[in-house]
Amino acid sequence: MPQAQKPIDKSKGAIRPARTISKVGVIGAGQMGSGIAHVAALAGYSVALNDLKREAFDHGIDLVDKNLARQIAKGTISEEDRSQALGRIVYAPNLEAFGDCDLVIEAATEDEALKHKIFAALCPHLKPTAMLASNTSSISITRLAATTDRPEDFIGMHFMNPVPLMELVELIRGIATEDETFSTARTFVESLGKTTAVSEDFPAFIVNRILLPMINEAVYTLYEGVGTVEAIDKAMKLGAHHPMGPLELADFIGLDTCLSVMQVLYEGLSDSKYRPCPLLVKYVEAGWLGRKTQRGFYDYRGEVPVPTR
Ligand code: NAD
Repeated sequence: MPQAQKPIDKSKGAIRPARTISKVGVIGAGQMGSGIAHVAALAGYSVALNDLKREAFDHGIDLVDKNLARQIAKGTISEEDRSQALGRIVYAPNLEAFGDCDLVIEAATEDEALKHKIFAALCPHLKPTAMLASNTSSISITRLAATTDRPEDFIGMHFMNPVPLMELVELIRGIATEDETFSTARTFVESLGKTTAVSEDFPAFIVNRILLPMINEAVYTLYEGVGTVEAIDKAMKLGAHHPMGPLELADFIGLDTCLSVMQVLYEGLSDSKYRPCPLLVKYVEAGWLGRKTQRGFYDYRGEVPVPTR
């Protein structure tokens, strides 16, 4: 679905031609990358989806298929929408496959060094007009942009989990992000049926700056024995009307992602109030990352989730 942009008057007086997005590349086929591929394909964009291994792509496509089926059951899309969307997502076996993409969204693991490597390897394969975005939950957009050959065409595009359901996408400009990049990103996000909120480029932006310290505090509450997993989640669901308890939510986000965000807050803001809870560190060290590995604060291997503490 090609998307027209109004020409923007650049500072030097030249009018840059409208940028059209029709093919989108997504790097990382985990819960976020597959969700972004889902909503982009459903909105009519061609999508190339990459991961380290073919199995990760296959797993991501299974997730897309399952979530599309849920939308059919709810009556929000038709069977035809589902098959068309699935048909628009192709496997990108390597970064060269992004050569004809107008926009590439990076949604790989929350690790700054890894993201730097991905952008360094990706840039030589991009066409000159291609735009770049990162779905990072916390890492500086300015720093990520600076590792590319096009910081002015780089933006933070922070989707929420689960992508097909959540309305919001945070948009974050790096220091070099140009107005045209921002307006192209906003038009693209709106074409997916999402609403944008603009955040400045500070650690964890808006949503996670507020949400993750609350989750970390819930882990401290467990660590200090103030409450059990069940008591903490019940307390916040019934006492604060949160749709999910904070530990349940941590498992849903992924404990590795939660820990990474807390580390970025702790280091980026140099404030001890963001110190990641040692119990959160221990769960990540154990590889108990939450739902995606079947174990976190709950064990998901049986019929019903069972608290692990
Ligand atoms: P995930 O663990 O589900 O998926 C990450 C995927 O990246 C994996 O499939 C992994 O194989 C792949 N990957 C790792 N290195 C790669 C490489 N070099 N090339 C290609 N693929 C690679 O994680 P996720 O929850 O989807 O998070 C992805 C990104 O989205 C992170 O930056 C995270 O902070 C952000 N995010 C997460 C959430 C959330 O709730 N989980 C919400 C918003 C944003």
